Amino acid sequence: MIDSESARRDSSVYDVFAVRYGTRTTSKSEVYLNYHVYGEPDATVGMDYFFWIARSPESVIVIDTGFATDVGVRRGRTILCEPSAALANLGLTPADVSQVVVTHAHYDHIGNLGLFPNAEIVIARREFEFWTGPYATRLQFAAPVERSETARLSDIWRQGRLSLVGERETIAAGVEAVVVGGHTPGQLVVLVSTDYGQAVLASDALHYYEEYERDRPFAILADLEDMYRAYDMLGEIASDPGRLLVAGHDPDVLKRFQPIGDADDALAIRIA
Ligand SMILES: [Zn+2]
Repeated sequence: MIDSESARRDSSVYDVFAVRYGTRTTSKSEVYLNYHVYGEPDATVGMDYFFWIARSPESVIVIDTGFATDVGVRRGRTILCEPSAALANLGLTPADVSQVVVTHAHYDHIGNLGLFPNAEIVIARREFEFWTGPYATRLQFAAPVERSETARLSDIWRQGRLSLVGERETIAAGVEAVVVGGHTPGQLVVLVSTDYGQAVLASDALHYYEEYERDRPFAILADLEDMYRAYDMLGEIASDPGRLLVAGHDPDVLKRFQPIGDADDALAIRIA
């Protein structure tokens, strides 16, 4: 995947893609915390499912791995593209991937880790400790999680392939991970250097742009104060023209960035 143009470039500058691998229809009252307090009628909203790829001349980093097909089907999600097929569409194979960042341990971000048996897996220390700790099985925390998938994190830890991020760390040249919490105890935001500025992959620190634009917390959360604080940080980032804020589940990503192929139905979007 190293073409002559990218080979001339700095290895700490990446092309970044969002892969849209699934979708569903839901409602505002389901996605926003205590939606009734806004005094607005309910409305239908789409929810897209993404993972992200950062590709430099030297390396390929995958940020999240989507949901496993059987889990997505069981949970009623529409699958648009298997993650391995999505990689192939971009000319990549799992063997090209040296590093996988898990932004948090929910089923739609951590399935398919088995595709990358040799990659370094990066996750926030707080996230790993929470999901291997005593409160992980309480229903409100456990509902968006597959126990077999969080158990796999422990296997990866035993294999010595798990890297735990503290508060803010450079995890590769040009790639920084910031622990913001809020949605889950150790939700990560990933910042990637590109030719067009810094791509800020908010993942589920920001499911929808409306969350920071209208200060509306998402319905699933571990800590509301941390969630609001993350919105403040992401709002500041959004106002900086040198940075590209990418929400985690918002169908608007297809409009704000450049879809590859059919604009309404794209399976991948070029962020930078
Ligand atoms: Zn998610």
